[in-house]
Amino acid sequence: MILPGILSLLLCCWTQDPSGGRVTVSAASPDVAPQSIAAVQAEIGPCLLALRATFPGAPRQPFRVIVHESGAELPKSLQAMHHEGSPGFALLARHEIHLLLAETKANGRGLRPVVMHEIVHELLDQHCGRHGGRLPRWFHEGLAQVLANDTYLGASEEMIVWRAATGQLIPFSDLEAVFPSGRHMLGIAYAQSYSFVSWLQREYDIKTLVAMAAAVDDETSFDRALVAATHRPTAALQEAWREHVVHGSGAAWRSLLEQFFSISMVLTLPLLAMALIKRLRVDNAARERLRRADLDEQNQLAAAATSAISGSRGVEAAEHAESSPDHESDLRALSESIAGEVDDGPHGLAEEPRDDWSDDELGDSPFHAPDRDGPPRAD
Ligand SMILES: [Zn+2]
Repeated sequence: MILPGILSLLLCCWTQDPSGGRVTVSAASPDVAPQSIAAVQAEIGPCLLALRATFPGAPRQPFRVIVHESGAELPKSLQAMHHEGSPGFALLARHEIHLLLAETKANGRGLRPVVMHEIVHELLDQHCGRHGGRLPRWFHEGLAQVLANDTYLGASEEMIVWRAATGQLIPFSDLEAVFPSGRHMLGIAYAQSYSFVSWLQREYDIKTLVAMAAAVDDETSFDRALVAATHRPTAALQEAWREHVVHGSGAAWRSLLEQFFSISMVLTLPLLAMALIKRLRVDNAARERLRRADLDEQNQLAAAATSAISGSRGVEAAEHAESSPDHESDLRALSESIAGEVDDGPHGLAEEPRDDWSDDELGDSPFHAPDRDGPPRAD
């Protein structure tokens, strides 16, 4: 009796909506497919459960998630609040999260990190109560990326390591209220925020950071709360983080490797081009050899055909001659001609033609055989 009761209680808790019905998901327009709304809805519970340890009792207030097809489809009143390429944004004063499906798809990491990122903004703001608006933007974005275990706009420490080494980082004081609008500098801002909060979290743990944020009030600025939580001046914290980025994060080596591969590819290109040219030449030579072989073969075939035709014509001529009424006289003339050539000898001097050949003089010439032995045969 006790075990089934415990199991049914666990099942009840497991299937209970972690938001307590405080989160609603809706489409911004009829163009958004119901399946997309269902997919977002399915991510809310797991995200809230994952964040429960960081923000106990959250969400304390209802909030809603509005799904848009893309940033281009945003109403004009919201477009100014959206950074190009970003897959979502949160309007904390309205307790609204806006998700952009096209940008989420382009991000390539799926829906979960984006939903998680935007929910972190909302829960952090709720956690800090009416003083949530005093938290700097860089801290909000850094914590959202760390807890979502993903960055926006492909931000990484490799993007900032050379800036950190050469003193060209964006001052965090410039990232308190707004982020830069240009795509490149926006990526740098996300990368700095992620890297600094990630370092703070490793040095002091996430609960310390969230408690520090909740300590901000009318008399306690964020910087003062950070110093109180870490016992180190803000400048010292930022310098320690910068040293980590340059020397301890491995970002410099990763960046160097990326550059090396890029340079290697550039250096390899001429070799690839030469190999390609060589290959093309070999192919052309082989093609020319084949063409010549084909030509020779065709010539041989043509010669053989010509020879065969000539032979055939010779036979036809012989047959024709045989059937001609002048055959006998032709044979006679030919015989006389041959005999004349023989008699001319090497001197080529011909005697006067004679018609009075005796049988003895004619001998066994085959050309005269018909006179004696019947018609000639073509053996
Ligand atoms: Zn964000």
